[in-house]
Amino acid sequence: YNLAMQNDTIAAIATPQGVGGIGVIRVSGSDAFALVSPLFRRRANDQIPPSHQLTYGHIIDPQSQELLDEVLVAFMRAPHTYTREDVVEIQGHGGPLVLKRLLRAVLAQGARMANPGEFTLRAFLNGRLDLAQAESVMDLIESQTEVGRRLAVQQLQGQLSSQLQEARHTILGVVARIEASIDFPEDDVPTPTVAELVPIVSLAQRQIAQLLAGSEQGRLYRQGLRTAIIGRPNVGKSSLLNALLRTERAIVTSVAGTTRDTVEEVANLRGIPLHLIDTAGITPTDDPVEQIGIQRSRAAAESADVILLVFDGATPLTVQDRQIMDELQALGFGAREKSSSRSVVLVLNKADCQQRVETGELQEIWPDAPLVATSTLSGQGLADLEEAIVELALSGKLQSNENVLVTSARHQDALRRAAEHIDAAIASLQKNLPLDFVSIDLRAGYDVLGEVTGETASDDLLDKIFHEFCIGK
Ligand code: GDP
Ligand code: ZN
Repeated sequence: YNLAMQNDTIAAIATPQGVGGIGVIRVSGSDAFALVSPLFRRRANDQIPPSHQLTYGHIIDPQSQELLDEVLVAFMRAPHTYTREDVVEIQGHGGPLVLKRLLRAVLAQGARMANPGEFTLRAFLNGRLDLAQAESVMDLIESQTEVGRRLAVQQLQGQLSSQLQEARHTILGVVARIEASIDFPEDDVPTPTVAELVPIVSLAQRQIAQLLAGSEQGRLYRQGLRTAIIGRPNVGKSSLLNALLRTERAIVTSVAGTTRDTVEEVANLRGIPLHLIDTAGITPTDDPVEQIGIQRSRAAAESADVILLVFDGATPLTVQDRQIMDELQALGFGAREKSSSRSVVLVLNKADCQQRVETGELQEIWPDAPLVATSTLSGQGLADLEEAIVELALSGKLQSNENVLVTSARHQDALRRAAEHIDAAIASLQKNLPLDFVSIDLRAGYDVLGEVTGETASDDLLDKIFHEFCIGK
């Protein structure tokens, strides 16, 4: 973003592409009223309608005098607007062509087409939202489960920000005391003692640790869990996928491929969006069409957080089962791989039939993998399977949702770096090192926390964050 351009007036279609009952053109900037007013034919043409009220009228092409649409327009005077600038929202009919014509008319008046996320960027730059709140706008729009939506609203309300500011405040208090004693030694500012400082720095340490404690779970709520369902044909993969989708009624999306392709659906696993990928199997084949499916399966397995390795519990292991097990181990999913984010759950399906699988052989290869017997017919074991997936994903550290405030990898990373600086400060204190060492670490921790709320975010970072937004937001 060219931050120097922040004072011009921007416009965009704010509603999604496609057909809807209404569509909204959003205009923001100091010239917003002056640009829109000549286009808007209404009862009292000579004055700007009252702020924050909808006014009925028509949008006219100023050149041709052609009637473009029958509309409701809200003129909203700064500062009580989304961007804290003057904002005009034109509610027209929700057709793509109608909205394009309305937007073109506004642009012809001298407004500039808004960049992705630019309205929210302005809200941030004008101090209406901090960076964590601005990011939550995107999370809210993209939330896939009720828990995800609630966490995003909570972040938008500033709950994460206020916890962070508390920790920053604690740190700054210590820095101020240290620096005062260094800067004014003769003005009898007493040098603080280690015994005085350690408890305060420890408080900041705990505040950060508390935020980090729920962050892994928060990330799962936001990003979801990629789960590949793998096994030879006929063991019940597709049935299992459907059964997992059924257990929770809130199915959020559905992306279907062809039968030979992979199929991805999103189930709601206790608030975690579970991206389930049903694969065509990863056994070798000469059939070129099937080969594509197999490549996709392999890719699905490689990118998965969790693999549900499904067997037909009613038949002894087959050559094909063993090929798949070998393949998975070759991909790094064996027991000796300690990569915590990629884990295997062994699923013995068709538990309603007499069981004939030797589980010893499976457990030898995956001694730590949970083994769950399921029946997609009776529903037996499905709750256990869900439990096993959640446990694996969080390595047993499930928190109550109330303790989750951090949901993004960016925030988690910043908090971890801040924690390192604070740990270093405490270590320096305990070693009785000069206080300016302590102060340097504390300041670094303070700044890193500021990356989350945006006080110390670089233009590059802002650029990256806001470009992920959609246009009109
Ligand atoms: P996929 O090829 O691995 O996707 O397997 P499908 O889901 O298409 O199922 C293959 C066959 O197994 C179908 O006839 C299903 O009805 C049957 N099946 C699936 N799950 C179960 C189960 O839990 N118990 C029994 N008895 N049959 C099942
Ligand atoms: Zn299938």
